Amino acid sequence: MTESAAARRYDLVVRGRVLTAEGEAPREIGVTDGRIAAVEASGAGLDAERIVDLADDELLLPGLVDSHVHVNEPGRTEWEGFASATRAAAAGGVTTIVDMPLNSIPPTVNVDALDIKREVAGPQAHVDVGFWGGAVPGNTADLRPLHDEGVFGFKCFLLPSGVDEFPPLPLDEIEQDMREIAAFDSLLIVHAEDPQTIETAPQTFGPGYSGFLASRPRDAENTGIAAVIERARRTGARAHILHLSSSDALPMIAEAKRDGVRLTVETCPHYLSLAAEEIPDGATAYKCCPPIREQANRDLLWHGLLDGTIDCIVSDHSPSTAELKSTGDFGTAWGGVSSLQLGLSLIWSEARERGISLERVVEWMSSAPANLVGLQRKGHVEVGADADFAVFAPEEEFTVEVASLRHKNPVSPYDGKTLTGVVRRTVLRGLEVDGETPRGELLRRGDA
Ligand SMILES: [Zn+2]
Repeated sequence: MTESAAARRYDLVVRGRVLTAEGEAPREIGVTDGRIAAVEASGAGLDAERIVDLADDELLLPGLVDSHVHVNEPGRTEWEGFASATRAAAAGGVTTIVDMPLNSIPPTVNVDALDIKREVAGPQAHVDVGFWGGAVPGNTADLRPLHDEGVFGFKCFLLPSGVDEFPPLPLDEIEQDMREIAAFDSLLIVHAEDPQTIETAPQTFGPGYSGFLASRPRDAENTGIAAVIERARRTGARAHILHLSSSDALPMIAEAKRDGVRLTVETCPHYLSLAAEEIPDGATAYKCCPPIREQANRDLLWHGLLDGTIDCIVSDHSPSTAELKSTGDFGTAWGGVSSLQLGLSLIWSEARERGISLERVVEWMSSAPANLVGLQRKGHVEVGADADFAVFAPEEEFTVEVASLRHKNPVSPYDGKTLTGVVRRTVLRGLEVDGETPRGELLRRGDA
């Protein structure tokens, strides 16, 4: 231990089992002005205003970073909102979210719209919030100003997004925007399902899940991802594949990465913890696009994480009102799964069954998404990082009760499921998130 560490008095010292990049060990963490100022071995005797001793069954993790959240406010605040979404995030150990540019009205496709979002989000944020911009037909000239204002990158769709005010971007414009974005080294994040493939698939809907699954085949994703890779290769731009579901695409993604294409990939808790075979008739809480696929596909996605083909796990929390979501018909129901609060417990429950360590889980859900968006002070427990923590009891079981989740509309495919691993407390820049006083900050690219 350094002498200065012993002599100092910190604002906060946390003592107990801590997960850092060096692994899990008993440690003392000193926090000053919201940042981690010391990471010492247990017994160092760090002094502080406030000392927190973790219980024997608790582990201190870096706060999770969820770079794929649809908050929907303003404009569709009855679907979700900054207060409810950030409370749900905090309850799940997530200390940073990055909000998607669509489903809010206006969508975040120019600086005026970004300003509106920031104004609405600022006073309500219980965790830190960053923003993606949107790339839609005709807004290439808005991308650099949005970048200069601090968005973390730009989202586009290859096919209709589900809301009319956020249209898909044709491939020639994707290439044009990639060239623009490459000029300032930002990132294009893509919902990659090919519209032509879906048009030729059977579109027969009703309460049965198999009809919906057949309407969004793996081929649509495979073709869409191939198109994105081709353009990333040609332009040298950074591209990111959102919510990968089709395991068929893993070999071509791995190959592109080996070739030096600047490509990253995420997947989501629903693709890793649920399976098409188990989805009951009429259970439209499970509907999302791309769809949840078969058990064998799920196993291959886990392999893709373990071998590094997939970089991170984020929620794609995309709620709507219960009325729009719970129609019982997979053709009409809103597509999107609500899981912001449950991600860590879902992934840990599944990972431990598969013999995968909590350390890997935290890497996929915390440091990897922080790296994706370039937030260097997030996602790690180390000196200089923000003091964002989740206090996690990895062996405690609980049963999900949808009514007690903090997101706005009580719909979830996980209702009634028993999971392992409870987030007991969440700390944002050295202070426990209480759900009463919003202390979250609005993040800009390069800020933290
Ligand atoms: Zn999404």
